[in-house]
Amino acid sequence: MSDHIAIAKHDHPCDFCGGIIPKGTKCRIIHDDFMPRLVYFEHLSCPPSRAVSAETINPKKPVNTNFKPAVCCG
Ligand SMILES: [Zn+2]
Repeated sequence: MSDHIAIAKHDHPCDFCGGIIPKGTKCRIIHDDFMPRLVYFEHLSCPPSRAVSAETINPKKPVNTNFKPAVCCG
């Protein structure tokens, strides 16, 4: 593996974080020494991961709402 820093010639997805490397910004290009066609693009420093939108979880009500645990011994 060898890498160098270059300026992106077009918008390119980052192979590390999946974000877009905007055209004209510096990025890291990584070459696989054994497979020259294999090239990875990465941000010089990937932006913080995007917040994950979580849906409000509404648990289903139990089927038997009048459930009472059995009591042994009396
Ligand atoms: Zn990135």
